[in-house]
Amino acid sequence: MESSASEKAGGSARGRREALVRRAVRILDRLEATFPDARCALDFTTPYELLLATILSAQCTDERVNIVTGRLFPSVSGPKDVVAMGQAGLEAAIRDVGLFRSKAKSILEASIRILRDHEGRVPSDRASLEALPGVGPKTASVVLSNAFGVPALAVDTHVFRVSHRLALSEARTPEKTSEDLRSLWPESRWIQAHHTLIFHGRQICHARNPECVRCPVLDACPEGRVRIRKAAHHPA
Ligand code: SF4
Repeated sequence: MESSASEKAGGSARGRREALVRRAVRILDRLEATFPDARCALDFTTPYELLLATILSAQCTDERVNIVTGRLFPSVSGPKDVVAMGQAGLEAAIRDVGLFRSKAKSILEASIRILRDHEGRVPSDRASLEALPGVGPKTASVVLSNAFGVPALAVDTHVFRVSHRLALSEARTPEKTSEDLRSLWPESRWIQAHHTLIFHGRQICHARNPECVRCPVLDACPEGRVRIRKAAHHPA
């Protein structure tokens, strides 16, 4: 019996999807082998410290955040200490990071909420985390995965750029991109995939001049192949 046009279309869509998943797994295998030490670059020892560091890291380098938290954390053992500092005290402590006033406000309000609603402990479920001031889906994912080992795949600027160049997602938002990536890899790989894509973005697939010639996944990257072709026609 001949297959119908819709069966053929369904079959080819399934085939494309399976090929994408295979390519995504191959890419992740190779990038993980390239960056076996990929890990969270923010310094922290408790979930509360990680929450603060992650809020501070918006539009700021992890290196700068680590300098600021290196000075702040020794005098802060939990949300009570931050509330005692007040807005002015906290602003003074974090003024070396961008947007320090609004970040101080978020941290202060989140700390008050953690004391009031969560007995002073950072909640380990997404809904409660995202209900805290200054905490969106990305911050919640970073805290859930790094502090509690809950599978999550936060999409920051590096993960967004790298996954789009590799044609693993065409989504326009970080949230949808995260959803696309999570559908390609098993849950057990999400946390490390996040760190690995960030390392790759920082060390090879730079925003301005990605080093495609030395990229371990060039053969699986549509954008890399275009860039290499262009460079061959227009050598520097
Ligand atoms: S080939 Fe180039 S664009 Fe593609 S992932 Fe590697 S560095 Fe990035």
